[in-house]
This record gives sequence, C-alpha cells and structure tokens, in this order.
Amino acid sequence: MTTITDSSLTSLSGVGPALAKKLERLGVFTVEDLLFLLPLRYEDRTQLVKLGALEAGERCLVTGEVLLSETVYRGRRNLLVRIGDGTGQLTLRFFHFSRSQQAQFQPGVRVTCFGEARKGSAGLEMIHPEYRVLRGDQDPAIHDSLTAIYPATEGVQQGRLRNLTDQALRRMVQAPPAELLPADVREKLGMPALAEAIVYLHWPPADADVAQMLAGKHPCQQRLAFEELLAHYLSLRNLRAIADREVAPALDDGNEAVAGFINDLPFELTGAQQRVVDEILGDLAQPHPMMRLIQGDVGSGKTVVAAIACLKAVACGVQAAIMAPTELLAEQHWRSFSNWFRPLGLEPAWLSGSQRAAARREALEAIEDGSARVVVGTHALFQEGVTFNELGLVVIDEQHRFGVHQRMALREKGIGPRGHPHQLVMTATPIPRTLAMAAYADLDTSIIDELPPGRQPVTTIAIPDTRRDEVIERVRKACEEGQQCYWVCPLIEESETLDYQAAEASYAMLTEALPDLRVGLVHGRMRPAEKERGMQAFKEGLIQLLVATTVIEVGVDVPNASLMIIENAERMGLSQLHQLRGRVGRGSVQSHCVLLYKSPLGKLAKSRLAVLRDTNDGFVVAQRDLELRGPGELLGTRQTGLPEYRVADLVRDSELMPRVQSVANTLQKQSPDNVTAIMRRWLPDVNRYGKV
Ligand code: ADP
Ligand code: MG
Repeated sequence: MTTITDSSLTSLSGVGPALAKKLERLGVFTVEDLLFLLPLRYEDRTQLVKLGALEAGERCLVTGEVLLSETVYRGRRNLLVRIGDGTGQLTLRFFHFSRSQQAQFQPGVRVTCFGEARKGSAGLEMIHPEYRVLRGDQDPAIHDSLTAIYPATEGVQQGRLRNLTDQALRRMVQAPPAELLPADVREKLGMPALAEAIVYLHWPPADADVAQMLAGKHPCQQRLAFEELLAHYLSLRNLRAIADREVAPALDDGNEAVAGFINDLPFELTGAQQRVVDEILGDLAQPHPMMRLIQGDVGSGKTVVAAIACLKAVACGVQAAIMAPTELLAEQHWRSFSNWFRPLGLEPAWLSGSQRAAARREALEAIEDGSARVVVGTHALFQEGVTFNELGLVVIDEQHRFGVHQRMALREKGIGPRGHPHQLVMTATPIPRTLAMAAYADLDTSIIDELPPGRQPVTTIAIPDTRRDEVIERVRKACEEGQQCYWVCPLIEESETLDYQAAEASYAMLTEALPDLRVGLVHGRMRPAEKERGMQAFKEGLIQLLVATTVIEVGVDVPNASLMIIENAERMGLSQLHQLRGRVGRGSVQSHCVLLYKSPLGKLAKSRLAVLRDTNDGFVVAQRDLELRGPGELLGTRQTGLPEYRVADLVRDSELMPRVQSVANTLQKQSPDNVTAIMRRWLPDVNRYGKV
C-alpha cells in the first residue's frame, strides 16, 4: 500500500524498477523530482482549427470527414487521406501504415488529427499526424490546458512521462512541497508561490502566454529558476562561511623582499596589477584562508602578480605552489618563475605527469622536506604521493578548467600544521559580473583591467578558406619583412590523433607553398622537450612560420610575431580564439589575425566571428560568447562538472542574480532553516559543495 508521502518512483502506478532506472537518466529520482522536470515546450490541443484557417508551419488540432483515401507510389508506397470540414481540405500522408489502418479511412468517417501542417504538392498536408477515428457523434478530445512536452529519454514515451507527472501533480495537490520563500520576500519579488508555479507550468491554461514560456521568461518559470539559483548561491556562500572559520597561516611578514622584487622587475607594474597585488597581500595577512579570483584579459600580466604572491608566502616561511592546466603553460610559468626567482637564490621545483621517475622522486623529496619553497606543475601537484612540508599558498592558473570540486580537493590536500593554504585562482576568461556572482560566489574577485603600456590592438579579419592562397602570400610578405607568423590548426573533434594529422598536413602544405621560409611545427603529441625546442627556435627567430595546434593557446610570448592565421576558426570558441589572438600584438608593429573559415558560414558562426573582428576586449568577447553559446563553454562546465541547473539558465536568468544575492542575505539572517531546506531541495548531494 503506497501513501502520498511515499516519494519513491515505484510508488507511482505503472512504474517498476526498470522504468525507474530510465527516469534516473533524466535526473528524476523521486516523485518530487518529477514536479521539477519542466516541459521543454507545449502543444495547443485546447482548440480546433478550421481547415480553411490552417496555415503552413502550425502545429494544431483539426477534425474533418474523410473525402478520399488512396495509395500512390512516390518511390515508395504512400497512403493519402483527404479530409474536409466544409471550410477547407487537408491531406494526411502516411509512409508506414498497415492494412487495417488503411481500411479505417472510409469516406464519410470522421477523424481528429494533431500535427504540423505543411505545404504539399496539392495544398496543405500533415505527415504522420497523431490521429483518432471518431465514432458516431463522439467529440474530438479538446484539452482544458496546453499539453506539456517533456525532455525525452530513450524508452520513456511522452505519454508515459505526462501520465507520471500528472500523478505526481495530483499527489502534490494533497501534499504540496514546502514553500521556502517567505511571503514578504515573494511579494517583493512579484513571484508566485511554488506550488502554484509548478501546477501552472505542467498544466498551463489555454490562454497562457506560450511565447513567454518558450523564452523561459514566465513568472512561474522565473520563480523556480530563482529558487534554484538561490540554492546554488547559498551552498557556495555556505562553503565560503566554512572557509572563513578555518585557520590559515597569517602571512604578514616579508614586506621588504616583496618591495625589492617589484623594484627589480624589468618593467613597472600597471596600476591595475598594483591594486590587485595590494588586495592579495591584504588577504594573505589574515589568519583565514584567502579565496580570491583574479580575472584579467590575456596579456594583462597575471603571472607576475602570482609570482609576487608566491614570493610573499616564501618570505613568510611557507611553501607556495602554482598549478596550470597543461604541461606547456606550467613549463612557461616555471621558466618565468625561474628567471625571476633565481637571482634571489630561490629555485622553483618542477612536477609534472610526464616527468622521468628519478626527477620526480627528487622533486617529491624536496617538496616533502621543504627544501623546495616554490613548486610549479600540472595536476600532478595534487595527486597521491605528493606531500607538502608546509603549503601556505596555492595558485591555480586558468581557473575555468577547474571546477568547485577540484578547488575544494586542493584545499583539503594542502592542510598543514598552521591550517589551510591560501588560494588564488586566475582566469583569462573574464566573465560578466552577474554570471561571476552565480559561478564564483565562494570567491572574492579582483580584476586586472589594464594592459601593460605599448600594446597595440590586433586587427582581425575573417576570410573564407577558398582564398587560402592570398593568405599564404600574406604570410610570405610578412616574413620577408622580418616578422614572424603563427599558423594555427584547431583541435579536431577533441581527438589528439586527428589534431596532429591536421597540423602535419598544414605543415606539409605550407613548406611546399613557401619553400624559402623556415617553417616549424609544434603539436600536442610531441614530447615536452621537443615542443620546447620548437618554441625556443621560434622565439629566437630561427623559425619564421610556426605551424601549431592550439597548444600555443596558453604558450609562448614572442613579441616579433605579428601575424596569426587560424584555420577552421568557425569551429572554435570565441574565448579560445581571443586567447590565441593574444599571442600576437605583443611587439611594437601592428599585428593582424586572420580567421580562415570554411564557407558557407551559418548565421550564428558569422555573428561569432564578427564579435572578434569588432572588439579586442576580453570582457566583451566573453559576454557575447555567453549569449551565443551558453555558460558551459565559458566556464568549462563539461570538463569540470560544474553543477548542472535543472530549471535555471545562467545566461537567460543571470539578471536575477542581484536579487538572489539580497534574498540570500535576508534568509540567512531571518530563516536559517529555510536556507538548509532550499539547498536540500535543489542540491540533494549538497555534500559535493561542503556540509550543510
Ligand atoms: P597573462 O595575464 O595573459 O597571463 P602574462 O603574465 O603572460 O599575461 O604577461 C604577458 C607579458 O607581459 C609577459 O611577457 C610579461 O612579462 C609582460 N608584462 C607583465 N606585466 C607587465 C608590465 N607591467 N609592463 C610590461 N610588461 C609586462
Ligand atoms: Mg597567463
């Protein structure tokens, strides 16, 4: 005997263990979850459309009398059924049909159909409509509410899903889910109550504003999105509150060492760098772990800021570690750090996955016994078997490839005798403020919004690859004038092998087309030392044209390189293209970036490439990337497992964030129980963020 409070899926009629398993694939584990599985769209079966008023492209309910039924051969057998209702006619077309189906459509029989009307050879037609033969004076079933269409999963039909949701809703009417937003808060927001919103979205009345619902802007949708954003925000703030109660070594010494280092740099810090350095030093002096994000456009000089933070840590007697997402970037940091720190008698240690066993053992020992004060590396830094002597600061570069979980894991890994390490994360993919509020609510943010002096904006153009010869000619010219060029081949289908083959093919093509130039090749399959040799040769000018895969995205700094060609640019993300482009424009001559694309270009691809042509501002690029492709690309959701949202859409709903923030503050003060319940409802495995 099941009760309305039994929340297991199998308590619903018609659900056995097999179906329950399938539902889990839609993220539905309990009866309540079904309530939050919102329709993707709606169909209108609340009114009959007269055949004479039918228009192509409309999905609607019609009824009529069979006038004629025939099978014809159009390559294969077609069953054509012509119906009429006195105002007009419509053809129903079936490619698959049984003899008994065919026999149903006797002239004079009344049928009702739902489907999309299209222009056919003889007027409007519906292909394979849903249909029902009406007996006697039976009425066509006209619905009271719009019909919800749910996200499908293999083996769960729409009808079944609708039936289950209906059951869940009927139970809900007797035992509604708790209303967790206080009435006064709801009133201020102008949003409906939860139960009301849920019922409306599953069973919208015939006069509901469907366009508004399809756009996700209906107040009932916003109500649910708001609560979900609130849940995520609260859990990140909760995590932060835990961190704020933790102890970390207060790094409040070593001012002279830091000042001396800054003074000895070959350049002066920009105002923005100085400001961010001050913010970091302020945090490090506190006895609680810093949790700070630095956002800075490509080339804004984040590395030296990280180095200053590391030096501060070392001067205060703790170890500092900087982790980068790729070997190449890590190597680059290691080189920069070595150049800067060696004069101070400080030799950064190196740890990576591809390191030889002996070198690795040596590094591990130095990290454990504390003789390594600064450690540079990849993920390898935080794997099993790495023990820090006393880690005081962790710097994570290119934050967008790491998620909240990794960030948390690092904190735990680094716990030492004086507490948790401070954490600094750096990203070159600036994200809009409201999105940052949602995604990085556990972090304080610093922005380096100024480039070092003397940088010239890169001119960007998009050219179809049918004009490749012109582009090659342009490369020849630039190199003859003493400049250097990059030719970038994109990652193909995330496959390193194809990736490398494409680069090899471009390399062969270019060496043949440009016999007088010194052409080099660098790709992801090379060993680090090989890659390094290629990059170094390019840096020294021995190579004039460097053919590369996107490995150079985060790599070399060659001021003499002033031209970059990017192949198949239409396949790449805007932020990635912007990063790549940041490799040129570092010297005194005007730099150019040519985006080669395969035509014809779709509308979306066209507008994406236009963004790069029109701006050099990473924030603008990121905002447009967000609008065009969604936050997954920008935040690297797919790689990192950043939380998926059930209802909210970070782009569509990001304007809710300021209100989410203020409601979160109110609830934390006034109704802590609701805070816990909201997190539980939306993040049942809330432990992935920390304990409630
Ligand atoms: P990103 O923020 O993209 O990581 P980097 O830290 O790699 O940028 O810095 C890009 C280049 O600018 C490096 O060659 C770096 O040495 C140089 N640089 C950094 N800060 C300054 C500055 N204040 N003045 C001049 N050059 C600088
Ligand atoms: Mg960098």
